[in-house]
Amino acid sequence: MDELLDGLNDAQSSAVTSRASVLQVLAPPGSGKTKTLTARVAYLVAREGFKPCNIIVCTFTLKAAREMKDRIRGMLGHELESKLILGTFHSVARRFLVRYGHEIGIKKDFGIADTTDSKAMIKRIIARNNYSIEPDPARSRISGLKAKGTTAEQFAATSNKAHQHELARIYSEYQETLKASNLLDYDDLLLRCTELLSMHPTCVCNIEAVLIDEYQDTNNVQYQLMALFAQKLRRITIVGDPDQSIYGFRSAEIKNLYRMREDYTDTVVINLEKNYRSAGNILLSAQAVIEQDQSRPSKLLVPTHCIGIQPTLRHLFTKDVEARWIVEEIERSRNLTAGVLNYGDYAILLRTSTLSMSIEKALAKAGIPYKMVGGRRFFDRAEIRIVLDYLRVINQPDHNDALIRVINVPTRKIGDVTIKALLDEAETGKMTLWSLILGYAQGKRRPRTKIATQAQKGIDAFVNLILTSRRKLLPENGEQCNLFDLIAHILKRLSFQAYLKGVHKDNWEERWDNVNELATQASQMASASIDDSDMLPVVEGIEQRQDTAADILSKFLANVALATEVEKPDGEDQQQVTISTIHAAKGLEWPAVFIPGVYDGSIPHSRAEDHDEERRLLYVGMTRAQGLLYLSCPHKQSSSEETTVSKFVSTSRMLKLFSPQGPTFCQQTIRDLGGILARPCPTMDLIEAARTNEEWAEDIRYPLTRMEMDGDGSSGAWSNPHLDDARSKCLDVNVTVQ
Ligand code: ATP
Ligand code: MG
Repeated sequence: MDELLDGLNDAQSSAVTSRASVLQVLAPPGSGKTKTLTARVAYLVAREGFKPCNIIVCTFTLKAAREMKDRIRGMLGHELESKLILGTFHSVARRFLVRYGHEIGIKKDFGIADTTDSKAMIKRIIARNNYSIEPDPARSRISGLKAKGTTAEQFAATSNKAHQHELARIYSEYQETLKASNLLDYDDLLLRCTELLSMHPTCVCNIEAVLIDEYQDTNNVQYQLMALFAQKLRRITIVGDPDQSIYGFRSAEIKNLYRMREDYTDTVVINLEKNYRSAGNILLSAQAVIEQDQSRPSKLLVPTHCIGIQPTLRHLFTKDVEARWIVEEIERSRNLTAGVLNYGDYAILLRTSTLSMSIEKALAKAGIPYKMVGGRRFFDRAEIRIVLDYLRVINQPDHNDALIRVINVPTRKIGDVTIKALLDEAETGKMTLWSLILGYAQGKRRPRTKIATQAQKGIDAFVNLILTSRRKLLPENGEQCNLFDLIAHILKRLSFQAYLKGVHKDNWEERWDNVNELATQASQMASASIDDSDMLPVVEGIEQRQDTAADILSKFLANVALATEVEKPDGEDQQQVTISTIHAAKGLEWPAVFIPGVYDGSIPHSRAEDHDEERRLLYVGMTRAQGLLYLSCPHKQSSSEETTVSKFVSTSRMLKLFSPQGPTFCQQTIRDLGGILARPCPTMDLIEAARTNEEWAEDIRYPLTRMEMDGDGSSGAWSNPHLDDARSKCLDVNVTVQ
């Protein structure tokens, strides 16, 4: 028996060893798709003799990429694993553009415009031209067009309404602004890479295999990229699950699954059936949710684990009460399972990150460590953004937006009016702000804008700082650009600590720590990130650009821009409760999962058009749980607004699958939990000690117990038998059964 196939079932093994040129592995959550894909990569290298540097593996998130790298390293060793071209679509596309982008006129030191940059640019374009459209919708519509591969010219040619013409002009000006600042936005990374690979197929002539995880969420441009990556040998493996397609709102195309079968008629499909992740009861409830979509082909989730503990559906009074209950339940279950569960085993998955506030507050109050995933990023904090913007300008002085954000931070007495006037002057002269002020500072150009002496001094100081910092990046100053020293240089020249003290009297210390943390992380991340190798196979006949010292800074900034879901680059090992959006939790699993806010208006979201996608989102959330699953819903969303339980779980059939109280923990349930998580069962002594700690069970302060359904089963009520009538009444919540 091949050791690479150890621990795989027959269907998984046949997918790993399949000789099919084009392979689709389609299967429900927790059936081992990612495990199979990972094993297939190792198998192709170790048994089929593929060179790792000729294999492209695309994952959906950086975290997934990191996990896959870890697993492959375990099977193949670091040497081989590090050569794989493995990462998110964006990071793989970036690698090709860095190496070969010059073939289509992309400068090597291009920067990545993040969402803030894009918004600022579009806002300025709209203001300058007095357009009527709002910046946010304009940005997402442009992004939608790009995801479909539609250029500004193509869109202009097909638009026939006034607002479409307006959007086409914004789109076109936005592209020009990006180009002038030597920036690519996220969509451009993919689009320009398709352009590169279609015009210069030699860049991928060595590629032997392309493998893609979470395929159901690819968009049109990603589909084209996949085809272009694999254009030479047409060897593609994808894994996915149509029931987990949750990115339609960002132009993902579920039909890419069927399109692939039409474009590659020799596609072989393998289905995996068994679920290795969750307790039977969790699968029953998840299955009942997804089955409400009657248009989908029926598929069963087949458990391999025991039936386990029944999931909880809890109705609570307000959002704050709900948050407190979650915290109490974390502590209660952690104590009563006698050491089987720890903080790192819990995830709280949210429909939108805005729901996190009360939960964060409750966790912090109880002193429970937690980390936010997919929420406000470490890199988005105000003090961090300032330092990053300086680095962006140093890397890329033509980055107008970064320059505008920091030219007067800390203050150099350059007022907004002056900045606006300079910007107008630069735009009229079709040059970037940097070229303009550099010309002034070097005396090569006389300002048309009237600038106060103080402000002129400020501008000169700014130019000087950027120039001295850029000099530090020049090759003659040593091979290795040390980002730590560079950041230290900037902080010193800016007297940044004094600045923070002046502006943030209450918490300047924490902010100063953050900035120092950034400096440390920068020096580590530049050399050891997911993209560290930046390696691509050497292709004959096409020039490959070499790394220079300044590339390390570029690479670091690209990592920052692409690190969409990282809170802090460290802290992985600590035992922390995870708070995440359901979207960012895709592909992951936790022993215990809470999904709060399960009410109509939250899930399905009031602004969501596609309720099938909302249902799939709940399904994705529920199927992240291995042993314990809790859904909850506050009775009141705000002081006045009442809520009703989400229509996805309020049918009488659904309600029967949930328990209205938190689970009871006894010897058997603790054993079962240990079995599902493959953890040693605690000793009888420990379980007994935990059981005697029963005050936890009594201490559920807000128990709203579901009463019997009404005679005809058409409605039920939630109330609390422990509370006196008056209070109980005010907590009574009617559940309308569909
Ligand atoms: P999702 O659709 O949520 O991404 P998936 O199909 O990719 O799920 P994996 O994450 O690969 O599923 O696997 C789910 C869990 O089941 C993992 O903990 C994995 O290690 C385990 N698993 C998968 N296959 C087996 C197997 N044959 N034997 C034991 N455990 C397995
Ligand atoms: Mg997976």
